[in-house]
Amino acid sequence: MYAKIIVEIGVKNVDKTFTYIIPNDLQNKVKVGCRVTVEFGKQILEGFILEILNTLDNIDYELKEIKELIDEEPILNKEMLELGNIISNKTLSSKIKCYQVMLPKALKASHKTKINKKMDKYILLNDTNNLEEYLKKCKYPKQKEILTNLIKNKELKITKLDSTIKTLLKHNLIKIEEREYYRYNYNTNSKDKKVILNNDQQSVINKVTNSFGTPKTFLLYGVTGAGKTEVYMNIIENAIKEEKTAIMLVPEISLTPQIVERFSLRFNNNIAILHSGLSDTERYDEYRKITSGQVKIVVGARSAIFAPLTNIGIIIIDEEHTSTYKQDNDPKYHARDIAILRSQYHKCPVLLGSATPSLESMARAANKVYELLTLTKRAGSGHLPKVSIIDMKKDLKKGNFIISESLDNKIKEKLAKKEQIILLLNRRGYSSMLTCNKCGETAKCPNCDISLTYHKNSNMLRCHYCGYATLKYNKCKACGSTDLKDYGLGTERLEEELKKNYNARIIRMDMDTTSKKGAHQKIIDSFANHEYDILVGTQMIAKGLDFPLVTLVGVINADASLNFPDFRSSERTFQLLSQVSGRAGRADKPGEVIIQTYNNNHYSIVLASKHDYLSFYLEEMKIRKQLNYSPYYYIILVSISTKDYELSFKVAKKVGDYLRDNLSPTTYVLGPTMANIFRINNVYKQQCIIKYKQDNKLKQTLFNLNEHYKTNNKVNVEIDINPNRL
Ligand code: ADP
Ligand code: ZN
Ligand code: ZN
Repeated sequence: MYAKIIVEIGVKNVDKTFTYIIPNDLQNKVKVGCRVTVEFGKQILEGFILEILNTLDNIDYELKEIKELIDEEPILNKEMLELGNIISNKTLSSKIKCYQVMLPKALKASHKTKINKKMDKYILLNDTNNLEEYLKKCKYPKQKEILTNLIKNKELKITKLDSTIKTLLKHNLIKIEEREYYRYNYNTNSKDKKVILNNDQQSVINKVTNSFGTPKTFLLYGVTGAGKTEVYMNIIENAIKEEKTAIMLVPEISLTPQIVERFSLRFNNNIAILHSGLSDTERYDEYRKITSGQVKIVVGARSAIFAPLTNIGIIIIDEEHTSTYKQDNDPKYHARDIAILRSQYHKCPVLLGSATPSLESMARAANKVYELLTLTKRAGSGHLPKVSIIDMKKDLKKGNFIISESLDNKIKEKLAKKEQIILLLNRRGYSSMLTCNKCGETAKCPNCDISLTYHKNSNMLRCHYCGYATLKYNKCKACGSTDLKDYGLGTERLEEELKKNYNARIIRMDMDTTSKKGAHQKIIDSFANHEYDILVGTQMIAKGLDFPLVTLVGVINADASLNFPDFRSSERTFQLLSQVSGRAGRADKPGEVIIQTYNNNHYSIVLASKHDYLSFYLEEMKIRKQLNYSPYYYIILVSISTKDYELSFKVAKKVGDYLRDNLSPTTYVLGPTMANIFRINNVYKQQCIIKYKQDNKLKQTLFNLNEHYKTNNKVNVEIDINPNRL
């Protein structure tokens, strides 16, 4: 017998299966989807079996045998194998990459560290009638102690087989049982809060539950605090009642530990949790809970969409507009698309939920491709907060560059009332750049076309793109002047200013304070326990957090995301402002939001302040229509990267010409142009943008382009279908 095996070779997108002989002793053990090791050239590689054949015709090279079978049961089941093919086809990524992306590290082919399941050993009494007799006669206190303990407690966890236990085993009085032990522990210290659902929530739950068994997509547009999480949990309960399973995706669990808590309180041990904050072993254990059929619910970030549950009853994607649901490297898949593919396979509905649905999803709902469900009011006692926009141009004249007069007053008021405050500033570090007042020279990264950020705590200048860091210098590199000034504002400086000006306990959450495992959770817990009055942070504080004592949210600079050169920057700004506003006044105390901006008339800021998603949607759709952007046109980004400056221009032109020559006349090809930041880590990046509605030449053209460059070592041509950013 023979097997066709796929292995991962290098980083390039090469897709090929290789045929190996199945040795006799493995013939009735191998299964499609299992991993094996094979000799490949001079290396030993791991690969997946994709096909098993009884005979082979005309082979003109010498076949080798499979060396070793790694798995007893397939790692890739039938659905995953099919799904991998579809993703490979849709994203132009190699099949092997598409298979690998579905698996935790410990189960990928060619992983470096072997991880095994961990077992605990227990001893239990055997059903024997000589136990009492034995106990009476027994002269050894240790044996007696164990036996009486077992009579009382039924079982005992042991760490090693000592002589006492060995003797008891020999006398057939006890037996050993091994049970799998899971390394990931999440602590829950509060109680599950059962609420009485309101009619709107009940109606959403009913509509989705009534569609169990049909592959249908719902879009739930529900304001922040409308009780969407409650709705999700009820739908999942209904799926469990029907003996089905459920996947629940959240943007990034390490940022929203509260959701884990709520789910584990409601569903106890019936959930597995998959997210990037887990160690490889913990992740492997959580995955084992799924494959062993022990849990019916999977809660996780993007890649949890591949959880190998069988009999899925419902797939939920919370905060569906979040950009992290799209993977930026190969395979460049979107979790929403995978959800819909899996819903067709399992014949189950998909529920997308958000307070600010992506324009794409809302447009699909408007076109009845998705069914729209709405929750327009907050569920509990909380109300949507009152939002004020502060024109910083005016405050700047009064000398307020960081905190406006209004925000200052509000901070003082809330501190006096012992309420909590969240301040958002979407830039980490101390200042955004260091500039010479004499000659105007700015500290730049030597590897990138970007200015360095000053980090005061470490006294370093850092590049946020390539990681370059250097000690802060006191003399201008160009003219030697010591008159250097730091411009711009980062979270570090904001924290410092707050400490100077207010008598308050302040904690900061950004990439610099959360690099250690569990650091997010610690900050969130301590803020929730009211050990701090003010939480300062980047956008990682905007998502999903629920702190009842927070009555004031301040956005220090709403323009940061607005000024980003991308067609989605208004949408992102609207989403961010709405999300962060949603953190205020979630319980009985009313919430207030203050947005500081230099663009106080911008529609995305004005409409976010009015909680008016629908008007924003209509306004933004008009602009997208005028500019031929998504969702009116599909967008594809073709980027050309190389370390060779000259080559970058040459190849970019060739790619642009090729696309123009081969795509339909109704398709637009823009560029090539230099990327927003032309050079990152000494790689030059150019790009072409394809905009199309329908183009039957598209697939072949992209395929050819991909094939042509995938073995080129000097230039990397990447194709990103529906990219997050341009
Ligand atoms: P969302 O996910 O839409 O932001 P949540 O589900 O987190 O909203 O609900 C917000 C708050 O309202 C939570 O504290 C939740 O317990 C509470 N809540 C949800 N539904 C109800 C209800 N029907 N009655 C009272 N409180 C509710
Ligand atoms: Zn750099
Ligand atoms: Zn200078």
